[in-house]
Amino acid sequence: MFAALPFTLALITSPQSGWETKSNTTKIPFEVHNAVVKALQEATEAQTKRDYQLSLALLHGIIYNDGVKIAVDPDGLTPTPAARQGLTNALNSWDKALEKDNPIQFVSDPKKAHLTLQFVDKVPRSGHDALGLIELKKRYSWNRSRYEIEISGTIFIQTHYNRIPLSASQFTEVIAHELGHLLGLDDLNQTGQLMGPMILDQPVSGPNARETYAVQIVRYHAKTQWNTVVDLINASKQSQPEAEFLSYEQEYLATCTVGRPCKYGKH
Ligand SMILES: [Zn+2]
Repeated sequence: MFAALPFTLALITSPQSGWETKSNTTKIPFEVHNAVVKALQEATEAQTKRDYQLSLALLHGIIYNDGVKIAVDPDGLTPTPAARQGLTNALNSWDKALEKDNPIQFVSDPKKAHLTLQFVDKVPRSGHDALGLIELKKRYSWNRSRYEIEISGTIFIQTHYNRIPLSASQFTEVIAHELGHLLGLDDLNQTGQLMGPMILDQPVSGPNARETYAVQIVRYHAKTQWNTVVDLINASKQSQPEAEFLSYEQEYLATCTVGRPCKYGKH
């Protein structure tokens, strides 16, 4: 029922210095968002309690086994050529970084998408300097024999800053940054990197090696654990009656804000 997942860590370069441990059981780079670290820990706890389907559901929310689909939201502003180019560049930057293991898929039909990307005059629920925001929800339901996961959300991208339209390369950074959150990355403090504060006249074109590695390693851990849980399920071959279907939700919110006149932050 659950296929083992292939993964290709062999292609990944060895970890660089500056690793931090956010989890007692797994070495996770500090670039990874706490929500993902927590989900990995909860998956381990569920596995220990033999709540295997919850474990798989949580891991699915990290791996996006069937891909995570994004479409442009028709309720938003019609994207300008610069916005379209930025979107294409941002998607390509993660494709190039993750190669065949990029779960993000762009689809034209918003009804078939998990998340929509909405171009807006003003990013909602954020300060004056916000340029992007991702609202992401993962809803897990499970019993002893199966699980379901619903992934939904919206990525808001502001089209102007101080009435000046963003350029294609500025759109690229803001959109690629939000996709970085979707893939499990946190905000970073240093400028000059995708998940760090933005400098408007020096936009970053995509993830660097460390940011890429952080996504790859978290996916590797999640897939390894997935395969372990599948083995445990196959080994136990329990034929227990179906229990009540349980569910819960995790919400994750990140805004990207711009700081002072020439230094721009994202959160
Ligand atoms: Zn951010």
